[in-house]
Amino acid sequence: MSINTHDTHILHGFQYHAPASVAEAVKLLDEHGMEASILAGGTDLIPKMKQALLKPRHVVNLKHIPELAGVREEAEQIRIGAFTRLRDIERSIIVTEKLPLLHEAVLAIGSVQIRNMATVGGNICNASPAADSAQALIALDAKANIAGPSGERSIELESFFTGPGRTVLGRGEFLASLTLPYPEAGTRGAFIKLGRTSLDLATVSIAINAKMRKETAESIKVVMGAVAPTPLRLRNVEQQLTKRKLTVEAIEEAGRLVSESIKPITDIRGTAEYRRLASKGLTMEALTRILEDSRREK
Ligand SMILES: Cc1cc2nc3c(=O)[nH]c(=O)nc-3n(C[C@H](O)[C@H](O)[C@H](O)COP(=O)(O)OP(=O)(O)OC[C@H]3O[C@@H](n4cnc5c(N)ncnc54)[C@H](O)[C@@H]3O)c2cc1C
Repeated sequence: MSINTHDTHILHGFQYHAPASVAEAVKLLDEHGMEASILAGGTDLIPKMKQALLKPRHVVNLKHIPELAGVREEAEQIRIGAFTRLRDIERSIIVTEKLPLLHEAVLAIGSVQIRNMATVGGNICNASPAADSAQALIALDAKANIAGPSGERSIELESFFTGPGRTVLGRGEFLASLTLPYPEAGTRGAFIKLGRTSLDLATVSIAINAKMRKETAESIKVVMGAVAPTPLRLRNVEQQLTKRKLTVEAIEEAGRLVSESIKPITDIRGTAEYRRLASKGLTMEALTRILEDSRREK
């Protein structure tokens, strides 16, 4: 389907396309290149179009491609379609039971009204360094599966982002799904976000995912939001904590190392200094929660 539209609030006209298959969407995106924008839930795209920050000549809605929506269990992994609404992720039993870290991060996004519209693919592809689902998905080892003119390719989600608002997606490509391995037994996670209001983007946020054996972190991923141009994985902190018992000293040391390792900026949501200080506190809080959870389940 393809129609012309000239909305009174969006002053420039554009052609609207509603492909019914991945192949059709790839063809349209390849044909129109930079002149096309993908529409998912529209909670990022439409405000940008209304403010004339973006003036696509072609808008390609992914809504009518059934395989792009839903959470599915496969033999070795969980697949989340890029067009899955955040509210459906929040209510998915698979996510609640098997990926509680993602559940927690999705719950922190906007309001129920926003999550009813917004999709996980939109949250990722908008590529805000503050996108809440990104840190949890990276900490959970997600892969991004990208559809494009030469078929599908998969990359680590961590390498998907190249800067604020920028991704590795090339001409004709779009995010089709995310795949995540089943977390091993003993895996514990924590997502914490600080924002000016509950509806705002993060001023600073953290996702930690750890495979615990009693009080020791056998392996651990630490990912911060809103402190760098892209979601930031802190490998030096992970190294410091791997195979270590999460004592009060180890937790304090990790908090210190996080705040020394990041180079945040000052913007309307907070100063660089605030972000550095808050990062330390968030790290300590997240690690303490993981420790307490693993003590409870002993
Ligand atoms: C009031 C309000 C509160 C908000 N609060 C939060 C918050 O707390 N945390 C947070 O992280 N975000 C927040 N957001 C931002 C936004 O809601 C999310 O980023 C949302 O997940 C975007 O998804 P969408 O489906 O609406 O994306 P859209 O607006 O449809 O698309 C976003 C961008 O991604 C592109 N895109 C979409 N899907 C794909 C795909 N599959 N492949 C390639 N490109 C694609 C679009 O072309 C567009 O550039 C908020 C927004 C509002 C308006």
